[in-house]
Parts: sequence; C-alpha cells; structure tokens
Amino acid sequence: MKPSFLKRVKELLRKDGEVQEREDRFRALVQNSFDIITIHDVTGATVYESAAASRILGYPQGGLIGKSPFASVHPRDIQRAREAFANLTSGGSPVPIELRYRHADGSWIWLEVLGNNLLNHPGVAGIVLTSRDITERKHAEERAQYLANYDVLTGLPNRTLMQDRLNQAVAQAKHTKERIALVHVDVDRFKMINESLGHYAGDVILKAAADRLKKCRRDTDTVARVGGDEFTILVRDAGRLGAVTGCASKILSEIAQPFPGKSQDVFVSASIGISMYPDDAKSADELTKHADAAMHSAKTLGRNNYQFFTQALNVEVQERMVLETGLRLALKRDEMYLVYQPKIDLSTRAVIGAEALIRWRHPELGLVPPSRFIPLAEESGMVGEIGEWVLRAACRQIRQWQNMGLSPRIAVNVSARQFQQYDVSQLVRTAISEARISPESLELELTESAVMHDAEASIVTVEKLRQLGVGIAIDDFGTGYSSLSYLKRLPVESLKIDQSFVRDISNDTNDAAIVRAIITLARSLEMKVTGEGVETEAQMEFLKAYGCQFAQGYLFGKPMTAAEFTGHIQSSEISAAAG
Ligand code: C2E
Ligand code: MG
Ligand code: MG
Repeated sequence: MKPSFLKRVKELLRKDGEVQEREDRFRALVQNSFDIITIHDVTGATVYESAAASRILGYPQGGLIGKSPFASVHPRDIQRAREAFANLTSGGSPVPIELRYRHADGSWIWLEVLGNNLLNHPGVAGIVLTSRDITERKHAEERAQYLANYDVLTGLPNRTLMQDRLNQAVAQAKHTKERIALVHVDVDRFKMINESLGHYAGDVILKAAADRLKKCRRDTDTVARVGGDEFTILVRDAGRLGAVTGCASKILSEIAQPFPGKSQDVFVSASIGISMYPDDAKSADELTKHADAAMHSAKTLGRNNYQFFTQALNVEVQERMVLETGLRLALKRDEMYLVYQPKIDLSTRAVIGAEALIRWRHPELGLVPPSRFIPLAEESGMVGEIGEWVLRAACRQIRQWQNMGLSPRIAVNVSARQFQQYDVSQLVRTAISEARISPESLELELTESAVMHDAEASIVTVEKLRQLGVGIAIDDFGTGYSSLSYLKRLPVESLKIDQSFVRDISNDTNDAAIVRAIITLARSLEMKVTGEGVETEAQMEFLKAYGCQFAQGYLFGKPMTAAEFTGHIQSSEISAAAG
C-alpha cells in the first residue's frame, strides 16, 4: 500500500469519527431538550419526535410518527394551527402560536409552537416545530383573568366584567334597536346583618342571595355582584315591560324567603332600581347612574320594592351633582356665611344669646337651605371642613362682640357625622384659644340621633367638651330614640324641644303631652329646656306655663346677620334696663 493512500484512509476515518461525534452531540441536545421537537413532511405527517414529546404529551415514544399534528389539537385552535402550518410550508415567516393539545390522559396541554421551514435543508428536508409546555403559565393567566372579572365569594361576574358586558350590549343595541334593562338590587340593611350576625353569616347570605338572583334571570341575562351588597342584572331584549317587572317581582319574592341561619332564620329584603335603554339613558354609564338613582328612590319609599327611573329623579340627581360640585368650592369662593337667631329667656324676654346658622349663597341657585346641603356634605365627606369653618367663624364673631362689651352666648350646630368622625374637642379647643374667647360663651348643639348612635363613645366626647368649659345642648329632642339610662349619664346642660312638637302644641293633645313630658324629664335630670320654632304668643304661653325656661323662634326674631343681631341685643338690653 502506498503511504499516501494510508494517510488518506486515516484522514477519512477521522472525519467520519468527527461527523459521528457531531451527530451524537446534536441528537443528545435534541433528545434532552425540555421542548418538544418534531419534524413533519409537507403534508404535515410527523416523521420525527424528540423524547420530550412522550414526556409532555403522555403518548408512548414514537406514538406521533406518521400522524397528522392536528389530530389532537383543540377544536377551537385547529383553524389557527392549520393556517400557521400552511403559512410555513408556503415560505411565510414563522410566527409563534399558542394552542391546546390533548394529553394521552384526556386533559389539555397548552403549547407554544414555533415552526421553521427546513424543507430545502438537505439534512432535514422537513418542517421543524418546537413546542413548549406553557400549561402552568396559562393556568396562572386564566386565574388572574378570572380574579379580574369575577367575584370570588359568589362566583358571579364583578363590576368590571359587568361594565364590559353593558358597554357591549349598548353598542349592539344602537344597531339592533333592542331594548335593555339594568336592574340594580341592593340588599336592605345589610350592614346591620353583618354587624349583628358577623361577617361569616353575612357572606353566607350574600352567596345564597346570589344563587337566588341567578334563578330570576334568563340565559341571555348577566347577573353581577357590583359591590358589597349590591347586584345588577343586565336584561337583554327587554322589549316588554312585563318581562322586566316580572323579573323584579321575582327577585323581591326570592330574597324575601327566609335564609337559614345558625340558630334561626334570617329575613332579608331588597330595594331595586330599574333603568331602560334607550328610554332612560343613551349610554352604559347613564344607564348605571339612573338604575342607582331609582334604587335610592326605592329605599326612600320604604325598601322592599322596585322603582323605575323617572325624569324627575334625573332632575334630582343632576341637582345633587351641581350642589356637590358647588359645595367643594363654596368655602374657597366665600359663599358661606353665618346668621344668628336670638334665644330668649322666657321669664324676662331678654335676649341671652343666639344660634349660629349657616347660609350658602350659590352663584346660580341662590340661597340653598342647610337642610339641603348639610346632608350632602355629610355624605361626601365635606362636613368636617364646613363644620370647622362654622366653629371658627362663630368664635371670631364672639370675639368681636366681646370687644364691643357684649356677651351673648352663641350656639353652634355640630352635624352627626362631624361629631362621630372628627375630634370635635380638639377643634373646639383650638378655635376658642385662637379667638381668645371664654369657653362659657360657646355652646354646641348635638342632635339626639348623633349622640345616641354610639352612646358610650358620645359620653366620652361630651365629657371632654364639658371639661373645656363649653355648654352642650341636645338639639331636635324628641325626634330620636333616647335611652334614658344614657341620657342620665350624659353631662349635657340643656335639651331643645324639636319645633315639630311646638308647632301644634295648642291644638294637638299628643304634641302637648310630649312637650310636657320632655320638660318634666329635663327638670328631673336637672337640665334646662329650650322650646324651638316658637311663632305665636299661645305657643310661648304654653311653654312658659309648663316650666320651659328658654325659647327661640320667629316670634322673637328670625335668623339675622351679625350686624343686625348686634342692634338686636343692644335694644334688648336697653328695654331690659328700662323694664
Ligand atoms: P336646627 O339646629 O334645629 O335649627 C333651627 C332651624 O329652625 C333653623 O333652620 C331656623 O331657621 C328654623 N327656625 C327657627 N325658628 C323658627 C320658627 O319659628 N319657625 C320655623 N318654621 N322655623 C324656625 P335652618 O337655618 O334652615 O337650619 C336647619 C337645620 O340645618 C338646623 O336645624 C341644623 O340642624 C342645620 N344647620 C344649620 N346651620 C348649621 C351649621 O352651621 N352646621 C350644621 N352642622 N348644621 C346646621
Ligand atoms: Mg340647632
Ligand atoms: Mg333644632
């Protein structure tokens, strides 16, 4: 043998070995890859599968060979899978797709599949697919998706999903002229149920209520939980009004069935508001607002009933919005001021002081009475700021009167919410020291219901206020439900008989009896009594006869500006001196 020939054979053998080595390396890489690698011919039939295929999909090794890759793809994904494969074979650029593939045990595996056209590659001559198992990620995504759209407690769609469905329904209805109803259900006094039976029992009732609501809808309707104790039902194709009222009545009677509780049945009712598209609203947003307004009117009408939205309600809602927006700016724009209504001593008819009453002059609406904006300020959380302003303004005014040598005692009203949520004693201390007035010149009027709401807490606050030296009166007495045992413990100076009793004192024997009883009660508790809303001599005489010491009312003077009140006290002092 020629040496050169031997050399050549050796070289060839070495190259062969190298090829073998390389091939082994690639095979090992492919076989041990976490991803499934498959090769398909142009018809799609599988010609090669890596070891991961059997591991991930559960079929015996080689089980896919010769089969179409689409055979086990989820019916919903098959169309996309075929399109992607066709795109690959025709030379399109590869795009990853996600699809469900049936596992040997029947479950669905989520795969992310990326293809590569290697038909023209001499070593491969096929379509190579790399499929990654993304089942866990998909399940996590689905769970997150579920949590974003569903309420965990009841399994019902939540507010977000309801909003989506409602938007969709309204968008469709614009074209189809379909009528939609939005039924807003609020469980009555649910807070009380929660507080008295505990949150667990509350949850059980909510879940049961959700199940009952589901019974009241048709398949095309959506029931959602949109708040703690609030549900809405989107009624599609609500052409006949009867269909909607039927649904609402059914809800009322379903909810009225007793809910089995731990020791006894729990009875619950609901208030329902209904608004219709396109009759009441032009958008999903409006539809929601109007159903809510209608629900509130059902509450006002005594609960356990349903109400349709009306245009009158709309006017009310609009007005509320205007007031609420205005209220936020009122103090900054200097639209609030105080007026003072004289309080007199019935035995001498001398003016002893005044009640400060807030007034709001709205730039467009004119004078808005406090009975309209104070409740609104309480609901929207602005009452703290307004109450603080009133107190400061009153204290400054007292200072001015004291500078003039006058010393009327001024009463300031504290709203229920302000009394319960803010540290009134701290506020009073600052206001008094800032204005440099003596605390005896200030009195606070707390309403009976505010004080009795949480009587134990009230006793603590009232004691703190008394320590500061300010007077405390209970306003609108007789309209709330006072517990006598608490009343005895409250260090309160006086009671103000609500004007509704004084009004008919001379011709309604019940009212007369109530007024007498309040005066007797006050005397036995060593409290003073003020009669409010005195308009006639007869009312005044009645109060005097039964031992009421003080009075307030149009008979003695309407609420007036500070300047007018200055003149009023001065002339009262002159007449007292003359008398
Ligand atoms: P209130 O504290 O019971 O005040 C007495 C109300 O009766 C005042 O109404 C007063 O103008 C009115 N009034 C007085 N005498 C007579 C009378 O002889 N006949 C009639 N028909 N009415 C009389 P106003 O000023 O409209 O205030 C209504 C309510 O608004 C007050 O009832 C009080 O609860 C609240 N309020 C007024 N100012 C303030 C305030 O600065 N802060 C808070 N939190 N509430 C206030
Ligand atoms: Mg008052
Ligand atoms: Mg009053």
